[in-house]
Amino acid sequence: IPAFSQSPPNPFKVATEATFPPFEFQNNKTGQIEGFDVDLIKAIGEKAGLTIELVNLPFDGIIPALQSGSVQAAISGMTITPERARAIDFSRPYFKAGLAIAVQENNDTIKSFEDLKDKRIAVQIGTTGAAEAKKVPGAKITTFDNAVLALQELVNGNVDAVVNDGPVTLYAIKDAGLKGVKIVGQLLTEEYYGIALAKNSPYVQLINDGLAKLIESGQYDVIYRKWFAA
Ligand code: GLN
Repeated sequence: IPAFSQSPPNPFKVATEATFPPFEFQNNKTGQIEGFDVDLIKAIGEKAGLTIELVNLPFDGIIPALQSGSVQAAISGMTITPERARAIDFSRPYFKAGLAIAVQENNDTIKSFEDLKDKRIAVQIGTTGAAEAKKVPGAKITTFDNAVLALQELVNGNVDAVVNDGPVTLYAIKDAGLKGVKIVGQLLTEEYYGIALAKNSPYVQLINDGLAKLIESGQYDVIYRKWFAA
């Protein structure tokens, strides 16, 4: 049976790890999951006539959930990597990001990737940031369940640096009131986020068509400006 003959389940279940503002986070008043990714996937759902049901999962539980079929897709600031693309499928890229180094505001010794040698680094489990930190010679790496906890460890002075997605660290500093932390140096990587689906999922086309419509109609830009206003 060709993949396109399958009609999608409604509601359409989409996994996300909701501690990655401004991409996905829980509104502490309403408990609702909000963010750039949330607006994007809901708009894609509208184009496809589907109700999106978000499922909040640990980041390292997302790929297993796609593989077991307990969710149909995932949107979670997830970087398209060759390794992941062997296990799952991705939509076309929908956001350009990259890894940034964060240090305490008064730190003037760490300015680049090379300066991280032998330092204490906090990262989020299962992420591209965790993989990049592993390349630092002699580094003592501490792994956290989410990026917010890793940044808090830096504020507390228990680590020297955090390697995390630049847009998320920047948002924490500029918009979420994270104090005493700064970003240093250039972005370490150029990364593109994709919506994740099971390998050979019949819904890749549906997601890509929705994304294309949002970009053509200008709706993508409206959502972008809502969360990344200059
Ligand atoms: N973009 C990073 C990755 O894919 C981090 C994603 C996240 O923490 N939600 O590994």
